[in-house]
Formats: sequence, C-alpha cells, structure tokens
Amino acid sequence: MGNEKRILVIGEIDQKSGLTSLTKEILGGATKLADELCGSIDLLLIAAKNDTHQLQWASNYRGVDKVYIAAWPGITIFDCEAITAAASDICKKSQPVLCLIGQTDLGRDIAPRLAARLDAGLCMDCTDVKYEQEQNRFIQTRPAYGGKAMAVFASTSGRLQIDTVRSKSMSPMSVQEVHTGDKIILSVESQHPSKVRLLHCETVQEEGIRLEDAKIIVAGGGGLGIKGFEIIGELAHILNAAIGATRVPVDEKWVPHHMEIGQTGKIVSPELYIAIGISGATQHITGCLGSQKIVAINKDPDANIFKVADYGLVADYKEVLPVLIYQLKKKLS
Ligand SMILES: Cc1cc2nc3c(=O)[nH]c(=O)nc-3n(C[C@H](O)[C@H](O)[C@H](O)COP(=O)(O)OP(=O)(O)OC[C@H]3O[C@@H](n4cnc5c(N)ncnc54)[C@H](O)[C@@H]3O)c2cc1C
Repeated sequence: MGNEKRILVIGEIDQKSGLTSLTKEILGGATKLADELCGSIDLLLIAAKNDTHQLQWASNYRGVDKVYIAAWPGITIFDCEAITAAASDICKKSQPVLCLIGQTDLGRDIAPRLAARLDAGLCMDCTDVKYEQEQNRFIQTRPAYGGKAMAVFASTSGRLQIDTVRSKSMSPMSVQEVHTGDKIILSVESQHPSKVRLLHCETVQEEGIRLEDAKIIVAGGGGLGIKGFEIIGELAHILNAAIGATRVPVDEKWVPHHMEIGQTGKIVSPELYIAIGISGATQHITGCLGSQKIVAINKDPDANIFKVADYGLVADYKEVLPVLIYQLKKKLS
C-alpha cells in the first residue's frame, strides 16, 4: 500500500436510497481530510441478502478509491463480530491512519471493538475531525456534559485513530456518474466464526419525513398527552415537518420509540426545532442542540428549555396551537 495515507469509512446502506445520508456526510468529511493528507479513501459496506448487484453504484462516489463489500451468506449489519473482523482485516492490510463510522447503533457497537482489537485511539460522537499537519495528528471535537461544553481530543501521531461521527456535522459528498474506484468483494473465506446469529428481524415502518433528514421538526414532550400529539401532527403536516418526542411520550406509548430525540434517542440538527411541552432536560437537549433555531412553547416560565431556545412562548399549547395552525392554514391557502 506504500506510504499513502488512507482513510477507511465504514458505511451504512439505506435500502431505498443507497448510502445513508450520514454515510454521505462522512464521505464528504473524509474527502476534505484526504485532500489535506494527500491520501485516499476506502469504503467498507455490508451487503444485505448477499446481493452485491445492489451496490453497483457504491464505487461511483468521487474520491472513493476502493469499496470493500462484505457479502458472504448470512452476514447482517447486526453481526458486530463479523463486521469488526472484516474491518480489522482491512485495517491490517491497508494500514489506514483514520477510520470513520457514523454515531449509529452500528458505529457505537463496532468502533470500540475495532479500537480494542487494533490498539487504536477512539473518540465517539465527533462533531468535527481535523488533521494537524505539523504534529501529524487528528483533532477531534465532541460534545461533553450533555452538550454544555465541547471537548477537544488530539490523537497520538502515528497511531490509527477511530472516530464515530455525529449526523449533520459534515457536508455530504456528491455522486459522480462515472466509475472511479475498485470494488472488492470480501469472500466467504474472509469471514471469521461469529457467535452472533440473527434469529428474527422486524422492520419498523417509519411514516413521513425521517427525523435525521428533516429541515423542520415539531417535537412534543410529557406536557402533551396523546391528544396533544394529534395536534402537533397537524402542525407538522402544514409545515412539512417530522415529528419528534422526548422519552416521556415514548415510555407512555403515545408515540413509537424511533421518534425519541436525545442522549438515548436520535441526534438531530434541523433548521427549525419546535419544542412543545418539553421541560428541556439535559438528556433531551443533547439530541437537538445542533438545530439552527429552537422555538419553545411551555406553560412554565422557568422551564429549562427556555435557556436554549432562540424564541420562547410561555403558554398552554392547547390555547396556542389551534391559533397557530389556523393562521398558517390561512397564510398558506
Ligand atoms: C440515562 C438517561 C437517558 C435519557 N435519555 C433521554 C433521551 O434520549 N431523550 C429524552 O427526551 N429524555 C431522556 N431521558 C429522560 C430525561 O431525563 C427527562 O426525563 C425527559 O426528557 C423529560 O421529558 P419531558 O420534558 O417531555 O417531560 P416532563 O419533564 O414531564 O416535562 C413536561 C413539560 O411540559 C410542560 N407542560 C405541561 N403541560 C403543558 C401545556 N399544557 N402546555 C405547555 N407546556 C406544558 C411542563 O411545564 C414541563 O416543562 C433520559 C434519562 C436518563 C436518566
């Protein structure tokens, strides 16, 4: 592989649209870093149902040098042992200086395993990764104390650094319509015995706009009740927004789990985040602090959400939302 500095991106696939938006963002960030390093990018993907034809487009991404596809029978994205083994094999052969994965269920699972196996540096949930040429090291930024502070970590020069990347923290890369990279199908022989067996898989049908992709999110909290979510559903529909929630509505089963935003839910960064009946607990705020503008509606003037909101309305949502919906409908009709 010579002395070329390589970056390995472990990507994820969205069955509808190819690479997930976070993978495209990471590839965008990796392209910038590869330019600074005068290096190249490799991409590892896990093929669903052993169907490598689905991944014809994978090597069409600008700047991607090699696409490794783990595609042996039985492999799934839930098989953290097999994926760690495949990534570890690639790292041993191609000696990357940096490995980037999304801060997703897969990334949270794989990154620490890979770091332990390869004795690499590890930084989770990065919002920025920079290369410092003078010291030949990577500088990672990540939120700390539930988003109240940003912590900066420097990697050790000459040691592989593994980072998971938070969504919406890097600009996505564009597809180039010509084949640029090599595609390498990892064979059955590459697989390692794994103790993980997928017994059953239930796909959760997410309706409407995905929280991760939404420009506007209307989020509801424990102050709403199940009826309140019907009202914010109407508001979201008018604004073409996605609906999010805090943990309380999820625990109360007013809304499904995939709508939870926060430390144990999704991390979102829309242009506009409308928080209704949400107290503003740190564990929730950490998931929406990347929003460009936060609007809060809460009947408690001392609610913590007002400390992070750009605009706040101290009011009962039952009085405010019908008026807002009426006015928006009038304006948009
Ligand atoms: C380890 C751990 C991880 C966690 N992870 C998450 C996470 O990922 N996401 C998450 O959200 N939480 C998480 N939590 C829970 C978190 O600590 C809070 O309990 C939760 O966020 C509170 O949700 P809430 O603000 O909607 O509800 P509440 O605390 O019940 O607040 C309801 C708010 O609604 C207001 N309100 C009531 N009625 C009205 C009305 N009619 N009109 C207007 N306002 C009204 C009240 O003034 C209040 O501020 C976690 C907790 C722990 C310990």
